[in-house]
Amino acid sequence: MITIDEALERVLSHALPLLPIETPLADALGLVLAEDVANDIDSPPYDKSVMDGFAVQSTTVKAGDELVVIEEVVAGQLPTREVVAGTATRIMTGAPIPQGADAVLMVERTEMVPSASPPRVRLLQDVKAGQSIMRRAASMRRGETVLQAGRRLGGVEIGLLAEVGRARVKVRPRPSVAVLATGNELVDVDVVPAPGLIRNSNSPMLAALVEQAGGVVARLGIARDEAGELREKIDLGLRHDVLILSGGVSEGVLDLVPRVLAEAGVEPVFHKVQLKPGKPLWFGVRRWEGRTTLVFGLPGNPVSSLVCFQLFVLLALQALLGDRPSGLPRVAATLAAAHFQRGNRPTFWPAAWTGDGASRSIQPLAWQGSGDLRTLANADGLAFFPSGDRTYEVGEQVEMLYWR
Ligand code: AMP
Ligand code: MG
Repeated sequence: MITIDEALERVLSHALPLLPIETPLADALGLVLAEDVANDIDSPPYDKSVMDGFAVQSTTVKAGDELVVIEEVVAGQLPTREVVAGTATRIMTGAPIPQGADAVLMVERTEMVPSASPPRVRLLQDVKAGQSIMRRAASMRRGETVLQAGRRLGGVEIGLLAEVGRARVKVRPRPSVAVLATGNELVDVDVVPAPGLIRNSNSPMLAALVEQAGGVVARLGIARDEAGELREKIDLGLRHDVLILSGGVSEGVLDLVPRVLAEAGVEPVFHKVQLKPGKPLWFGVRRWEGRTTLVFGLPGNPVSSLVCFQLFVLLALQALLGDRPSGLPRVAATLAAAHFQRGNRPTFWPAAWTGDGASRSIQPLAWQGSGDLRTLANADGLAFFPSGDRTYEVGEQVEMLYWR
């Protein structure tokens, strides 16, 4: 059986960034840029006022002067008159600075001379050269690279791309991910299970996690534990970048998934990982038409499925998206209660934050095992305990992978 690290390394060796596509800017949020982007114009494109006020010649004016107001310029307009000694242009935030002016005095530091004609303004303060002006190209010059390939696009990046005129950008596409549950005992969510049956909770959970990670889900429903039906649905799933199955990868008589995957042309990469929960994890790849489909056979128990998703599938999706495969954030956390770790497999145990600030620590929860998804709803993440029998005492540090 391979270790978690070995398994992850093998998964990531097959999870290469998808080929770039061009997408409208409006669809690019959360995706990873696949090109360097340069500015097409100077920003700002002209010297502009950053205040509502009066544009003046700083060298010829001082506090107390009265200046003739020769023009009024709002943002979006061009000034038509040159500012000379003894004159000022009333200017609004964002408007271009008129010829001759080299400073703006904000309106709050001025007063209009009552009933003067032509209108005159009195300066209540001295003015320094450059005051309240943002110079052309102060933010970025034309041709300057403002974002580099590999950058994940958030709100700020989207705004910047808009500023530099990129209505379309090259990005790594969202992976398309098929989700297929297997098991004769499974019924759909809207059904009250008859005796011996349970609801398919894995498919909706895995689909949600895929979407959260930036993938696009194809829902393939439930396949019975029957080779023909399984094969049919697997063939559909193999048209996607990733196929996630749940169930049917353990040692039961109806655990047919590895065999049927092999028949469908999926090369096995590994089966079983030293991990609790999640030991039966199966991983393989199918190559077709120069593309690769990553195939994850997750164990059927919901918490095993969840843990395998967070430890492996999530990182593979991040890699396909062109992002650094970092998975859930991890921190060293202090135990608020003792915990007994047993067995030869490293274990991820549901845990919740308790206290806050510097005294924040984690509480391992009373968990009934890999079929107990309910307890996970109270967990903020998973505490990690290395293999081997040992009691972890209150105050000891362990690693916590968290989603909250
Ligand atoms: P398996 O891996 O197929 O042996 O399933 C292990 C356990 O997980 C069994 O108790 C199954 O009933 C349960 N299980 C399998 N698939 C699902 C699913 N899609 N949703 C909820 N539980 C499941
Ligand atoms: Mg099963």
